[in-house]
This record gives sequence, structure tokens and C-alpha cells, in this order.
Amino acid sequence: MDFNLNEREKMIQSAAWEFAQKEVLCQAAEIDSTARFPLELAREMGRLGYYGLPYPAEYGGGRAGYTAYALVIEQLSRASMTVGSVVAVSILSEEAIFRYGDQRQKHDCLVPLTSGSIFGCFCFTEPATGSDPRAIATRARPDGGDYVIEGQKSFISLAPVASQALVFARDDTGRVSAFVVPASAPGFLLREPCETLGLRGLGTSVVYLDGVRVPGENLIGAKGSGYEIMLEAISLERVGVAAQAVGTSQAALDLSLDYARQRTAYGRPIAEMSTIQWLLAEMASRLEAGRWLTYRAAFVRDQGHPVRSQSAMAKLFCSQVAVEATRMAMQVHGAYGTMKSLPVERLYRDAKMTEVYVGVSEIQRAIIAGSLIRE
Ligand SMILES: Cc1cc2nc3c(=O)[nH]c(=O)nc-3n(C[C@H](O)[C@H](O)[C@H](O)COP(=O)(O)OP(=O)(O)OC[C@H]3O[C@@H](n4cnc5c(N)ncnc54)[C@H](O)[C@@H]3O)c2cc1C
Repeated sequence: MDFNLNEREKMIQSAAWEFAQKEVLCQAAEIDSTARFPLELAREMGRLGYYGLPYPAEYGGGRAGYTAYALVIEQLSRASMTVGSVVAVSILSEEAIFRYGDQRQKHDCLVPLTSGSIFGCFCFTEPATGSDPRAIATRARPDGGDYVIEGQKSFISLAPVASQALVFARDDTGRVSAFVVPASAPGFLLREPCETLGLRGLGTSVVYLDGVRVPGENLIGAKGSGYEIMLEAISLERVGVAAQAVGTSQAALDLSLDYARQRTAYGRPIAEMSTIQWLLAEMASRLEAGRWLTYRAAFVRDQGHPVRSQSAMAKLFCSQVAVEATRMAMQVHGAYGTMKSLPVERLYRDAKMTEVYVGVSEIQRAIIAGSLIRE
């Protein structure tokens, strides 16, 4: 059993932390308060190769593996979970096209994403459901050699900056299929971004598909395999969400340690009080457990194995850790923790998002239990 990162992973990890401290941290509060998408940072992360980290060089990737992907997201999320999320969300379309696309689709639709020259979005959730694929109501009707897509998608991250969308729709067989849709296609319409509690600035929006026509060659994978494609892509993004939760928990612990050392009560630093030490020790222990669960899920994928259950465990556990760790950090900070001018309350709001997006905790438990029972 080897718990060491390799030299390349260590380099990528420390470069990402340096970038997060220098470029991201100073913008984190403003991204949150204005809910502005951090376009310049997102472009810079493309130049740094963050969107293509796990993929082969022939598809514009960095051949650094999924562990490197998790490490980068963790470091970015120590400064801003929204910025970490830009990288985490991008893998959804990439993974789907990489695993299921043909050579032409990989060249035309994957390389621009991995190289960071365009952004993509992933359109699964609808007003009536984010959890139940049977309730997907968006339709893709065959017309000549084309498909005409009609429907509405909700909570779509990166939609305002995306040039390309991966859209899930029910085809004429009644099953769900996946299509690459250029955002410039007539009928692809955006509403203003949703106002969310946390992860503000991710551009999360409602997308209308008003008779959008795409050629048949834009179908990804076999007809009717959309649900399988969604499950596979999302299993990787869950590793990214777990890494976001770990990064946010680390930030909560770092801020709490600093504060506890300098804040005094009854003539001594509150760090000397056993109640505060209890909180710090709980945060550190849970964080460490979550971090290794996340790294292990990424490592298993780097060995070429599926990670549906492992990534569900990592997301379930780390999102709970993040919610608890940020709550504890608020407690360490007392009234100051609730102030908008300090970062702790932002971490607390962002942490909650990890229990909801990319599948609610209840769905993660269903995946884990289903896998246990089948085994
Ligand atoms: C910031 C943000 C970004 C997002 N980005 C994207 C994106 O880019 N693309 C995209 O497609 N979606 C995106 N989403 C949508 C997100 O993935 C869904 O909101 C999420 O999967 C939950 O779906 P829902 O809101 O429809 O909840 P529902 O499915 O309506 O569930 C509501 C509640 O019902 C219970 N429940 C539902 N199903 C079950 C079950 N099987 N077993 C037990 N309990 C259950 C749970 O308590 C759950 O919390 C995003 C959401 C947010 C908030």
C-alpha cells in the first residue's frame, strides 16, 4: 500500500495551490457576492491545462490522471469552491465524449474542451427532476437524418459561457439519448442564472431547447444509452465534488486555527480551551478521512476501474464533512463567523451545495447500497 503521490502529482498539487493563493483567493469574495462567472480565471485555468488533466495527449489532455484532477480541484476550492467547480463540472461532457464518442467526435468536440479553447455544459436536470431519469421529458424527434430537440433544462452550470452542450433527451424509442448541441444552434436559449445559496458565480441557468436541430452524427454513443453515459460521466464528477468538499473543509480548518490562536477569552487564546480543541480535532480527523477516500476513488479510476460506488461514498462522506467542518468553523469564530466580511459564512453556504448538486445524498446512498447488495 503506497500513500504517496508521485512527483508529477506533487508538482501539480503545489502549482495549483500557488495559483489558488495568488489569483483565486483575492477574487473569491467578489465572485460570491456578485455571482459573477470568473471568466478570466476560467480561461487561465484552460491555459494551465486543468480541463484536460486526465486525458491522453492526442485528445488535448495532460495525461496526469484523475488523482491530479482531484488534487487541483481540492487546492482551487481551498480558495473558492466556485472556481474549483468550474474544473469539476467541465469533466462531465469531457468524460462522456471521451468514453462514448467516436474518433471524429473526440477530435471535434472533446479536444476544444480539454484544451480550454471552449467551455461545455451538461444538460440533464429538468424542472420536474434531477434524480429520476424516467421523468426526463425533453424529446429528440428524428427528422430526416437530423434530430429536433424540444424541452427545458434546469440548473445548468457554465451555460452562459458554454459553446457546446451535452443534452439528454428521450428519443423515438422512448429511451434517453445524449446529443452534442452547439450553443449557437437556433432555438438554444438561456434564461438568467439561478440565484443559489452557494456556488455562486457558476452561471447555473435554465436552458430552453426550442426545436433545436442537430445532425444525427451528434448522437454520442449508441442510441438509447444516454442514461448509462450520464451515470458514467457523473461518477467522475462526484470525485471532483468530493475534492471540492475536502478543499472547503481544509479552508475552514485553516481559518479556525488562525482565529483560535489570536482570539482571546478570559485572558488566554481560545485555542487553549478544550471545547475549541475538540472542534479543531474533529474537523482535522474527518477531513483527513474524507481526503483519503477521495484520493482512493481517483486512484481506482487511474487503475482503469469503474468508480460508481467509490465516488458515491467519497461524495456522500466528504459533503457531510464539509457541512460539519464549516459549521464548526462558524462556532470557533463566534459572531464574527456570521459576518459577510469574513470568508467563513461563504464556506458554510458553499459546503451545503455539495450535498445537493451532482446527485443528492439520498441518491449516493442508493448507489452504495445497490452495489453492496449486488456484490
Ligand atoms: C449549483 C448547481 C449546479 C448544478 N449543475 C447542474 C448541471 O450542470 N447539469 C445538470 O444536469 N444538473 C445540474 N444541477 C442539478 C442537480 O444535479 C440536481 O438539482 C440534483 O441532482 C437534485 O435534483 P432535484 O433538485 O431535482 O431534486 P429531486 O430529484 O426533486 O429530489 C428532491 C429530494 O427528494 C428526495 N429524493 C429524490 N429522489 C430520491 C431517491 N431515489 N431516494 C431517496 N430520496 C430521494 C431527496 O431528499 C432529494 O433531496 C445543479 C444544481 C445546482 C444546485
